[in-house]
Amino acid sequence: MDLYEYQARDLFESYDVPVLAGIIADTPDEARQAAERLGGGVVVVKAQVKTGGRGKAGGVKVAKNPDEAHAAAEAILGLDIKGHEVKRVMVAEGARIAQEFYFSVLLDRANRSLLSLCSVEGGMEIEQLAVEKPEALARVEIDPIKGIDAEKALEIAKAANFPEELQQKVADVFVKLYKVYESEDATLVEVNPLVLTEEGNIIALDGKVSLDANAEFRQAGHAALEDKAATDPLEAKAKEHDLNYVKLDGEVGIIGNGAGLVMSTLDVVAYAGENHGGVKPANFLDIGGGASAEVMAQGLDIILGDPQVKSVFVNVFGGITACDAVANGIVGALEKLGDKANKPLVVRLDGNNVEEGRRILNEANHPLVIQMPTMDEGADKAAELANAR
Ligand code: GDP
Ligand code: MN
Repeated sequence: MDLYEYQARDLFESYDVPVLAGIIADTPDEARQAAERLGGGVVVVKAQVKTGGRGKAGGVKVAKNPDEAHAAAEAILGLDIKGHEVKRVMVAEGARIAQEFYFSVLLDRANRSLLSLCSVEGGMEIEQLAVEKPEALARVEIDPIKGIDAEKALEIAKAANFPEELQQKVADVFVKLYKVYESEDATLVEVNPLVLTEEGNIIALDGKVSLDANAEFRQAGHAALEDKAATDPLEAKAKEHDLNYVKLDGEVGIIGNGAGLVMSTLDVVAYAGENHGGVKPANFLDIGGGASAEVMAQGLDIILGDPQVKSVFVNVFGGITACDAVANGIVGALEKLGDKANKPLVVRLDGNNVEEGRRILNEANHPLVIQMPTMDEGADKAAELANAR
């Protein structure tokens, strides 16, 4: 989960990372009030969207007084920045910037380690810096067991060529930023720019934080950071039921057991779709081992709730949960859903107890259910039906 800048700012503050005061505002009037609460002087009005390059897109504006903050918010709210609509701004205390730097710590999956990137040339996007001036970007591997202690922090500051008199100051901030990374189970903590002010202070002016969703169980506070309004309603509903669902952009709903089988089902359906008007998979849904009527009904309910879905492909390989249990699950789910089940359901069962599973479905003889013997034929049928509707 990525955080908004204002959430990163709040988080940084709670770890004693030097930041400037910031207040969120959803309307120009609120922005004016925020600027007044910040003392009525210079503020910066910043678009709160989960993408970089806001500055260049007109999403960051300096305002000299509360009236200008009102005008800036008026100009920024509603902007489209790389496909993200601005619904909220942060009004932040203005900084007098002498110099801009870059710092990040991130999970380096390829090396099974952590990596810190740091540069005395901040401000511009890091991808661009890495291409245009790779020598200006220090890359320091961080041992995940040791983390960034005072010594490591100083090593980073030196590697990035900070002038001697600044090294200790920035190193202190690196240690604090690493505390955020470690204690919050983040996969990325990035500050761009980290600035030196005219007054000689080091301040994290813009923060980007990604939190590891796999650590949710031990991070009770993270649920509150989730942007419920921005998550897909079907994905939110699936999460409530502990279903592994990802919404995609096609017409063929997919249900399978096991992540690997579902992944390959997506491929096979996309391939079959090429012969049927280019239809594509509408989602990823892994119902795991438990193919009970209840789980099946919840899964179908979510998939059928997607108005884009025209047909559904249930692709199950019976293992510990045998095919007869899955077949009973499908029959029970259709009973539960009643009129809500209104799209054709192509079912391919194979594996443990397949004969009994197929017999149960044949006997139930539900008008929406079509059985196919193999995965390829099932995918083809589901794509054909989606295209026909
Ligand atoms: P981004 O473009 O989305 O990364 O947004 P940033 O928050 O990094 O802001 C972009 C740029 O705006 C920064 O690199 C600064 O040059 C400038 N900026 C941001 N806050 C202030 C501020 O308080 N004072 C001044 N003078 N410039 C600022
Ligand atoms: Mn930035």
